Amino acid sequence: MVKNVKEQLEILADLQQIEISIARLEESLAKVDESLARLDRELSQFSEAVDKARADVESAREKYDEDEKKVRSITDQIAKNEARLGTIKTNKEYQAALKEIDDLKRERSKLEEAMLGTLEKIEAAEKILAEKQEFAEQQRAEIEEQKNDIAGAAAGKKKELERLRRKARAIADKVEPRLYNTYTRIKRNGGGVAVAAVENAVCQVCHMNIPPQAFNELLRLDEIKICPNCQRIIYPRQSD
Ligand SMILES: [Zn+2]
Repeated sequence: MVKNVKEQLEILADLQQIEISIARLEESLAKVDESLARLDRELSQFSEAVDKARADVESAREKYDEDEKKVRSITDQIAKNEARLGTIKTNKEYQAALKEIDDLKRERSKLEEAMLGTLEKIEAAEKILAEKQEFAEQQRAEIEEQKNDIAGAAAGKKKELERLRRKARAIADKVEPRLYNTYTRIKRNGGGVAVAAVENAVCQVCHMNIPPQAFNELLRLDEIKICPNCQRIIYPRQSD
């Protein structure tokens, strides 16, 4: 344990520097997570667009198949009715049967016309699906590349963060426990900054003058001093 005030102050200043770097890295890594989540959302939007286009194709195909089935059944019906014509005895019944066949044929024509329209719809929907798929493929490749870049850069930052955390713990162990408690309390109250350099009798955090008497005491470095204005631990530093 280092007892010397000057050394203690140097250690605290060092610790603070590292903790500031740690906070910056943590902030930047949080942004990385946000960016990755945003890219994932983009990816799923493209997939959803493809799914929707595929559903449009499928529903048009189903409609076509349904109509085709109806046409087949009507055609069967027409054939049956036509086969029955020869067995009909009265003219009236014959006319009625012919009319029924005509009606069925008209109905079938309508369905066949609708099927042509549906075929066009299927083609258009397939075209849209292919476009969406191609676009989604392109975007997916680009987004995956972006994600890899981001994750790669983040991996370096995570390693650096681990290194700094270890270093901070090792440094913190060198600080007198009571002073360390003071340091953490001031840090909490001081927006993360517990230690302030004093240059030319000016606190470099709050930029207020340290009174001459207090400044002279500070220069003696025989005890821990607090900035009378911002209440941070102060240490003298030569201005550049
Ligand atoms: Zn101050």
